[in-house]
Amino acid sequence: MAEYKTDIEIAQEAEMWPITRVAEAVGLTDEQLEHYGTYKAKVDIHALRDLPRKAKLVLVTAINPTPAGEGKTTTSVGLADALTRLGKKAVLALREPSLGPVFGIKGGAAGGGYAQVVPMEDINLHFTGDFHAIGAANNLLAAMLDNHIQQGNALGIDPKQIVWKRAVDMNDRQLRHIVDGLGGKAQGVPREDGFDITVASEVMAAFCLASGLMDLKARLGRMVVAYTYGGEPVTASDLHAEGAMAALLKDAIKPNLVQTLEHTPAFVHGGPFANIAHGCNSVQATETALKLGDYVVTEAGFGADLGAEKFLDIKCRMAELDPDAVVIVATVRALKYNGGVSKAELTNENLEALEAGIPNLLRHVSNIRDVYGLPCVVAINAFPTDTPAELALVERKCQELGVNVALSEVWAKGGEGGEALAEEVMRLCEGTHEFRYSYETGSSIEDALDAIATKIYHADGVDYTPAAKRQLAQLKANGFGNLPVCVAKTQYSFTDDQHKLGAPEGFRITVRNLRVSAGAGFVVALTGDIMTMPGLPKTPAAERIDVDENGVITGLF
Ligand code: ADP
Ligand code: MG
Repeated sequence: MAEYKTDIEIAQEAEMWPITRVAEAVGLTDEQLEHYGTYKAKVDIHALRDLPRKAKLVLVTAINPTPAGEGKTTTSVGLADALTRLGKKAVLALREPSLGPVFGIKGGAAGGGYAQVVPMEDINLHFTGDFHAIGAANNLLAAMLDNHIQQGNALGIDPKQIVWKRAVDMNDRQLRHIVDGLGGKAQGVPREDGFDITVASEVMAAFCLASGLMDLKARLGRMVVAYTYGGEPVTASDLHAEGAMAALLKDAIKPNLVQTLEHTPAFVHGGPFANIAHGCNSVQATETALKLGDYVVTEAGFGADLGAEKFLDIKCRMAELDPDAVVIVATVRALKYNGGVSKAELTNENLEALEAGIPNLLRHVSNIRDVYGLPCVVAINAFPTDTPAELALVERKCQELGVNVALSEVWAKGGEGGEALAEEVMRLCEGTHEFRYSYETGSSIEDALDAIATKIYHADGVDYTPAAKRQLAQLKANGFGNLPVCVAKTQYSFTDDQHKLGAPEGFRITVRNLRVSAGAGFVVALTGDIMTMPGLPKTPAAERIDVDENGVITGLF
């Protein structure tokens, strides 16, 4: 196999335009930018308040992935560049990477190959400081909560029923479960505590769904941090914390503008987990992009059963978005994985397994088309290890089954490799569609979960553990019984068992835990143990990352 340049080599060779020039292309003036150096800027959302949304909205999602990721970000970037090449004003709206995966296993999240957003080192590391600000807001609330207890506990908070955790943007398993407040009377109240990674904090989810700074403040105030000895919820607003928290976030909430390798404008902003949160970039970024472009390309985390479902049922509902087309990324390796091939064998040609994996793809396609009523196209994200016979087989199978399909070679060729996909996306955006959610607004938690499980996962139904049943009753008693539901589930399977690949039938979903994210505005249903503070692997990516005396970074990917 030929030698390929690494993502960071390609990114560092790129000739970036000053961000002012990128902004000009979508009609933004220098006064509307807040510069963070030459190549990054935040956009003054107040200045754009009166502009109408005008762009077509395209969601990029994927089939159930392999652990390495199937290239949603890469495809999003390449598709936007292809639209730019075809003379359209394309604007990206993407998530900001978290330091956890950057230093852990998965690496950064700025795309790959010739379809990347730059400056990739900055985007993958501190960027414009948003995640640090979100962590600070989260930890201010934690400090005010413990201080309230120390100062006499007027609210009657039960230290054994505190649900608010501290946060840091790092994979650090040592902090998962801790005891703090040790040292004596003046040193706080000893209790069990713990940290979540910042992207798993509810502040991140609320931040990403907020329609503006005042809405963010209101959402922060609604967040439940603990329960009293009597079982009543205590909110951030009971602690008078939301004003100072929102103050810490006043700049962070402005979307960050960067560019692709081909100078397409990209808003990279916010990055909630796709399991206990909804997994897409901020509403602020999507909204701003919709006001400036002809086409907005955005991505939702994980496979379509989680990512697209939450984008469509949670984000689109809250932000009143009406997507025009959906791209479902499929890879030969993920199809073979769904067809039963082990991780180690994925690079060997295997047409039989490939064909056996196709029902997984078809189920996602029919969900998007038939449940949500949206036009969609399958993008085959071509890898250097794919054989021509494999690529041809996927394309032929899709065509035989009446599924729109386009080969995407954006990783190898940049925007040029995405023109066929872009043409198809533009065609789909011209048609009419009638977008609907998978469950009605105001549905009960059980009805919403039942709809998601039967229509999207194709399960026979939902079971609740005794603990989940108790929590359900408590949520209803506290007035949280009709919020949208955010399912935390394995991303590898339609089921709650990561080993059941393909398009399984005859299974039920077990809900083990239900809790409210009242500031985000949804109820989280956990179907298994979901890690909210990941750990580092035996050999973390951090060991290979370095910087020289000129500040040039190596080893990021
Ligand atoms: P996702 O957004 O679905 O998690 P990414 O776009 O971040 O996926 O891609 C995951 C990894 O796979 C990245 O390291 C990226 O460089 C790599 N990758 C994506 N598409 C290709 C491709 N067509 N060929 C080779 N590597 C790819
Ligand atoms: Mg991604």
